[in-house]
Order: sequence, then structure tokens, then C-alpha cells
Amino acid sequence: MQSCPKLLGQGFWREQKISQTNPAYQQCISLACKATYDIDEVRVACQKCGDLLDVVYDWDRLRVPSSLAAFEQKWAQRSDPHCLSGVWRFHDLLPFVPVEQCVTVGEGQTLLLPSEGVAKYAGLRPGRLLLQYEGMNPSGSFKDNGMSAAFSHARFVGATRAACASTGNTSASLALYCSVTRLMKAVIFIGSGKISYGKLSQALDFGALTVQINGDFDDAMARVKEVSQQLGIYLVNSVNPFRLEGQKTIMYRVLEALRWEVPDWIVVPGGNLGNSSAFGKAFRELHQLGLIDRMPRLAVINATGADTLYELVEKREFRWNHGSPDLDKAVRYFDEMDAQHRRASTIASAIEINRPVNLNKCIRALEWCDGVVRKVSDQQILDAKARVGAGGLGCEPASAASVAGTKLLVSEGVIGPDERVVCILTGHQLKDPTATVAYHTTDQDQFNKVLGSRGVRRAAFANRAVAVPNNLDEIIKAIRLYS
Ligand SMILES: *Cc1c(COP(=O)(O)O)cnc(C)c1O
Ligand SMILES: [Zn+2]
Repeated sequence: MQSCPKLLGQGFWREQKISQTNPAYQQCISLACKATYDIDEVRVACQKCGDLLDVVYDWDRLRVPSSLAAFEQKWAQRSDPHCLSGVWRFHDLLPFVPVEQCVTVGEGQTLLLPSEGVAKYAGLRPGRLLLQYEGMNPSGSFKDNGMSAAFSHARFVGATRAACASTGNTSASLALYCSVTRLMKAVIFIGSGKISYGKLSQALDFGALTVQINGDFDDAMARVKEVSQQLGIYLVNSVNPFRLEGQKTIMYRVLEALRWEVPDWIVVPGGNLGNSSAFGKAFRELHQLGLIDRMPRLAVINATGADTLYELVEKREFRWNHGSPDLDKAVRYFDEMDAQHRRASTIASAIEINRPVNLNKCIRALEWCDGVVRKVSDQQILDAKARVGAGGLGCEPASAASVAGTKLLVSEGVIGPDERVVCILTGHQLKDPTATVAYHTTDQDQFNKVLGSRGVRRAAFANRAVAVPNNLDEIIKAIRLYS
């Protein structure tokens, strides 16, 4: 067995900044701790206090363009894979590994498109709602943005195997990076019966070692942490701070598509809260660098059946508090959850999570971006998903929470009808065909089996197949009738 010695906890923390030697380093997000670690240490938590780690840069010693428009020069150099990559053409804003060593499979070729139909559905004026299609990534979800970054770090420290727990998309992404680059072996952990076929088929087809355990995502997550520590396997879940660096670039591309204008709102589904955390960090850094003049607001949308963030933030006032969060509030909440045996359950399997691993970073992002949290039902999610699909490029259920959440926030008057809103469509339509077909089906049994059990009662926007006898006249009659 070959493993990277750096993975086995031989690193050490120092009170002093190490930025004297390297302008990029890792730092504990707890302001009471602030322990720092070298960039080549592999950790998923602070050794001193257990909180999450950030990748931090000493910007004064780095070469950062004086305006975001300077990144447009990369468009002319697209024959260089690092300029083609929607992640690495922004390398100057995530320079933790030299750009030549960064791994790319062409991630981040994604689009920001206005949608009239979805704007109308959400109650926004035409042109005010834009969809960021992260399903166009190589493995079909936004996870590739983070994976290219984590993978680059893994290669940098000499890892030979990488692991993750996954509701499906992280494993699909890891498996793809491993199979395309041949740099590492993928080990993925999934809960039993919790993964959609679209996602599972990717991991299997790409040849990842797939470990199915008896439990849900949170169980798989707990196990993969233990296993990767014991065996020295590099962990690529979003507790990995390098992954979030890659996910910052989703926001850079949104700005790029808006010709570097900051939108009023970013609306994103919340699962493990890696995206929302990364987006907050992206804007915070740009603001501190003087590259944007204002911060957008952030809305994180939970599913009703997986509403930890909503409960903590909106009901129990769990706040970052400028770096002094009342962590007991979260501990108490999780104790209650366990005592009552409450487990997350939603059709939006990508956000079916009890204990979001990036909780503390997310409440920090909510403070930085004057954010709000809402929850939407599976019914609202599927109706919104159907509207997205009818408008063109479709999405998977979890992604549509952003649209359903926008509609809710407009109806509450929190988002004004003239505000410019960007909804992140996190995953591709083909990831979960079971949910889509069940919504549009005429087969009541199938509808009930897949959706009825989740409290979904109707499919207001169903596009039902028309059953016609195999007879030319009947077919022509049906087409005349329905078109
Ligand atoms: C992973 C995932 C999410 C959840 O994102 P977090 O960053 O964990 O909050 C949402 N939608 C899709 C499609 C995903 O794959
Ligand atoms: Zn710490």
C-alpha cells in the first residue's frame, strides 16, 4: 500500500503565520483560535479546536489583476487548457498550487441564461431572473468546480487514492477525475438506496471502488472520515477547504456573464453548505481586494425534509456573530435530532442531509452577504423543476429548490420584482430521471410510489405522454387535437 506521509497527521500547527514563506496557507475559521497550517498539510479540521479550515492568501505578495475585466484576456488563450477551464482561468484568485500543476478536465464551461418563463413563475420582471447552469460540467454537476481544485491539491501532496461520501454527485465527479486523469484511485461511500441511478451509474461506469453502507449520507460521511484517516486516503468532501476554493469560481463566472456587475441576489440550494460558504468567501475576497464595490445578498434554500440550516438560522437565531457564534445552539439542535431519531427525507436527494459539514462557514457567509434561509416542500421543488425544464436546459430536483425559494422570497416581499436574481442550477436534468418521469407520468401507481410517499399530491405542470393506438388515423387525430 502506498500512501502519502503528509496525510497521516504528521503536520503541526503554529501560532505564527507561515505566510513569511508561502503566501497561501490554511487557517482555522474560529477567530478565537486562528491556528494556521502549511498549504501542503492535509486536514479536514483544525487540530487545535476542531473547527473548519480556510485557504487564506497574503494578497499583497501575490499578483492579482487590478480589475476583473483583466480575466477576459484569458478568452484569447483558450488553446491553453488552464485558460479554457472555467476554474483555472481564475487561478489568480485561488493560487494555492502553481497553475501548471492544476488538474483540469474542462470543467466550468457553464452558462448564465435569463429565463422569461421561470422569471414569470417566480414573480420577477422579465430579464431579472437568471439561471446558472452548472449541470453543464463534465460530470453533470457543479461538484467538478470543487473537484478540480481538491484534486490539484491531492496531486500536489502526492496522494494516490481519494475518497468521498456522497449523495451521488461528488462521487460521480471524483470517479470522473480519477478515470480521465489516471492520477488517483477513487473510493466512494454511499448510503443504501439513497442514490439516484443517474449518479450511481456514473461512479460504476468510471470504475470507482464503490462502498455501499447500510445508512444515510451522514453515516457514510462519518465512516469515510475514519477510513481516510486510518488508511491515509485523501478526502474530497466539502470539509476539504481546497474544494471550496474551486467552487468560488462559479461566482466569478456569474460576474463575468454579467459583465462584472454584482447581482442583487444569489439563490442556492443548501445541503452540506459548501457552495453557500464558497460563494460568501468569493465575494468577501473580491470586496476586500477592491474588485467589486458591493456584496450581493445570499439566499440558501433547504428542503422541508432536510431543514437543519433553516431551523438553526431562522428559528433559533444561530449566527456567526462576527466570529463568536453560540456553538451550543447547534450542539443542542443535533442532540434533539438524535434523541427524536429525526432523519432527513426529501426527493431532492442531493440536499438530503442532517448535519451540514460546512455549517459554521455558511453562517459566516450569511453574515457577510446579509443572507436569508428558507425551506421549500418537495411539491414546490418539483413544480419549480418542471418550470425550469419547460424553459430549456433542465435540472435535477435539488437544483430547483433555488427557483422555488426565489418564488417564496418574492411572495414574501423579501426579493423585489425588479431585483436581479441568479439561481444556481447545481445538477443536470438527467441525474434523476426517476423523479422527472414520475412527475410527468399518467401512471398513478408510479406517481404514488415515487412522489406520493413524499407528500407530493399533484403535478400542476406535468407534460403527460398521450397514449394512442398504433393506427395512423388515430395518431394524426391525436396530434391535431393536442398541438
Ligand atoms: C451537492 C449538491 C448540492 C448541495 O450543495 P452543498 O454545497 O453541499 O450545499 C445541491 N445540488 C446538487 C445537485 C448537488 O450535487
Ligand atoms: Zn482552531
